[in-house]
Order: sequence, then C-alpha cells, then structure tokens
Amino acid sequence: MSSTRRQFVTTLAATATAGTGAGWIWGAHAASHGGGGGKVKPGADAALIVVDVQNCFVTGGTLPVKDGEQVVPVINRIAPAFASIVVTQDWHTPGHASFASAHAGKKPFDSIMLKYGNQVLWPDHCVQGTDDASLHKDLKLPTAQLVIRKGYNKGVDSYSAFMEADGKTVTGLAGYLKARGIKTVFVTGLATDFCVSWTAQDARKAGFGVYVIEDACRAIDLNGSLAAAWKAMEKAGCKRIQSGDLATA
Ligand SMILES: [Zn+2]
Repeated sequence: MSSTRRQFVTTLAATATAGTGAGWIWGAHAASHGGGGGKVKPGADAALIVVDVQNCFVTGGTLPVKDGEQVVPVINRIAPAFASIVVTQDWHTPGHASFASAHAGKKPFDSIMLKYGNQVLWPDHCVQGTDDASLHKDLKLPTAQLVIRKGYNKGVDSYSAFMEADGKTVTGLAGYLKARGIKTVFVTGLATDFCVSWTAQDARKAGFGVYVIEDACRAIDLNGSLAAAWKAMEKAGCKRIQSGDLATA
C-alpha cells in the first residue's frame, strides 16, 4: 500500500471513528471549502461524471426516467466548475440480454437470473448508433474529454461506468481517471437508483472520493429502488450534495 493510499485509508478510518460521516472526507484532496458558506470547490484532481443523459432516458425515449430532462440545465450550469469531465452512454447491442424482448415470456421490469446474477429486464433501449442512444441535444459540455460507452457486450449489462454487471469486466474508466491524477468524482445523470448508484459505488471501490449531486440526477424508483440506492451509496461512503453546495464560480 502506498503512503498516499495508507493516509487516505487512515483518514477514512479516523473520520468514521469520529462519527462525522456527514463531513467532507475528501476536503483536502479535491474539494475545499470556499470562502463563502462552506461550499465545495472541485479541485484540479476532481472529475465530473455525467451518466447516461441520453434520449432513451428522457421524455419521448424508450426508457424514460420521470423528469429526466430536468438534469440537463443543472449539469450545464455546474460543468464549468470542473477541469475534467467524463460522459457515459448506455450502448447496447440489438437483442441485448437486459432487454425483456430477448427472453421468451418476459416483460419489461420483470427480473431474471442470468449467469452473473439477478437482472432487471428493460424495454429495448439505447441501441448502438440509434438516435435514442444519442446524448441529449441540450447537454452543453464542450470541455468534456472522454465519452465512455458501456453495456456493449450482448450478454452482460453494465449500469456502472466502471464495471460490468458480471463484477469482473472493467470498462477502463478507473485506469483512465487514475492515469490523469483524478482523486475525487462528482456523479450526476440518470438514473439515480441504477446507473448513477452503481457508478458511484464502484468509484468508491476503486478508491475515489465520491460526491453524488442529487438535484443533477433523476430516478426510476422501481419497487423502492431509490431509497435502497441512497442507503447503499451512503454505506459505501458516497456523499450526497446538491448543486447549490458547489462553488461554481
Ligand atoms: Zn441499459
């Protein structure tokens, strides 16, 4: 374990022991309190991750998240505060294993057991190269450096931008971020309780500090999945903030 890593773990342990889980664990790394009102200021080693803000997940798409398009102006507003921005796209093959249509007798929102575990089945969505899979036209992220696509292996879903649902096939995002010196990520997009949550939790597993910007996300909330997702994210050490908590100037 490197000394930096050890120090990070020690800091986490100390914070947990002190019972101040709501504090800004990563303040020294990437987000310092600004002069005014205790705002979080993303540093040079922070990245904004914009998860799946695609036509399929907004009104008129194949798998619309309620009010999904409302994340667009929030993300556009906070983006200038970040030196590094990564955008993700759900990017499925036709007949993908996560589609209900690929399984006889199944309908959307049923679940099924696949080789790697339980899989919620969805309507066909975000098929590679379709307009449905394109990024929302109003998303204005001219400084984004990387678009990472996921879910392109036909037999495996990938809610997470870091790791496919088999729990072992990586997308390469962690390596990219580490190679660029990123220590903290701020996660936004769609949907809070699936791709945002899995991405945020996997970012913690990969050793990053994680903030989830709640009002820059919208949820599907399937059978209590939203509350469960927040619980899991908080347990993993992800910090829930609002876009107004960021020092964007
Ligand atoms: Zn998908």
